[in-house]
Amino acid sequence: MADNDSQIADSPGEVLGPFTDVLQRFTSNFWEVAAANVPKDLHWKSLLLMVFLGVLLFWIRGGHGAKTVQGAEHKCGLLEYLLPRDIYTHLSARVDIWLYVLERILRPLWAVGLFATIGAITEQSTIGLLQNVFGGTPAMESNIAWMLLYTLLTLLSYDFIFYSIHYTMHKLPALWALHKIHHSAEVLTPLTRYREHFLSGPIWAAGAAIGYSIPAGVFAYMFDGGITQVTVMNVGVFTLLFGFNGAFRHYHVAFHYPRWLSKWLQSPAMHHTHHSYLPQHWDTNMAAVTSIYDRIFGTLYIPEKDEFTPWGIGPEKQGEHRTFWQNTVGPFRDWYRMLTTRNNTKTQTDTFNT
Ligand SMILES: [Zn+2]
Ligand SMILES: [Zn+2]
Repeated sequence: MADNDSQIADSPGEVLGPFTDVLQRFTSNFWEVAAANVPKDLHWKSLLLMVFLGVLLFWIRGGHGAKTVQGAEHKCGLLEYLLPRDIYTHLSARVDIWLYVLERILRPLWAVGLFATIGAITEQSTIGLLQNVFGGTPAMESNIAWMLLYTLLTLLSYDFIFYSIHYTMHKLPALWALHKIHHSAEVLTPLTRYREHFLSGPIWAAGAAIGYSIPAGVFAYMFDGGITQVTVMNVGVFTLLFGFNGAFRHYHVAFHYPRWLSKWLQSPAMHHTHHSYLPQHWDTNMAAVTSIYDRIFGTLYIPEKDEFTPWGIGPEKQGEHRTFWQNTVGPFRDWYRMLTTRNNTKTQTDTFNT
């Protein structure tokens, strides 16, 4: 088997991209990689940066900009501004922790394998398709302009897949049953980013693998595998952008961008709106990093400064998604309801027909 693999890899014209490389390396140190799979934005350096930005916002805005448990802006002192007791002791924030723990325990069972396999298959298919259409790799020389383009296209590709999955999760009832767990958060803390049902993880990971590996395949073909993305101090530009945005957008302090910039990039405050249950906020701002796809598909909503954003799934349904247990079994109960309701409707129709 190994011999076959090396023959394939050594055969002329075969281009190996980073995802195939990742697959080969991961099979040997699966658990090591899984253990190191702790989100970057929860490392102390990232959290410290967030607190620093929080202090800066407090100072610039004279104590305004932090939101209460109800999602309303209020003026307060520095400590309450940065670490409000009623948010961090809220049941919702505690449930975030247990959902995160469960998801992380189950993650090694699928994460690395799924990410590497789907990524490698997509990448190799992309390379194969290009070879079929255009022949062998042109083996172009990489330079900073190409690296920037590669970085930008990866960002746009990932954001498009993220948007598509997110949109489908909001619109398709069977998937909303899963994604609702993220939206049942009644307060926002940096950990809320990882408040997901454990079955949502593989969907997001598969999407990310596809989003990254299509441009990886295209650029590996063009440059015969000899191109990398632009990094700043060894960190990918994309990781920087999304890491920062991802943590701060689940922070109770509203961080707005100027309106013109919000038309291009999702400001953290735009995600406050995404978590609001008010009808005008529902199903808006669904991309991860840019605002481009929300603009194209008409889901962009740029909130006013400190707009009221009550978080959660609304008073009517919130009672069903409060505890850890409710949020863990909730999707299964919803799916069961969907199936039985459909069967009941079908039986009724059959009765009318006869
Ligand atoms: Zn959502
Ligand atoms: Zn969110």
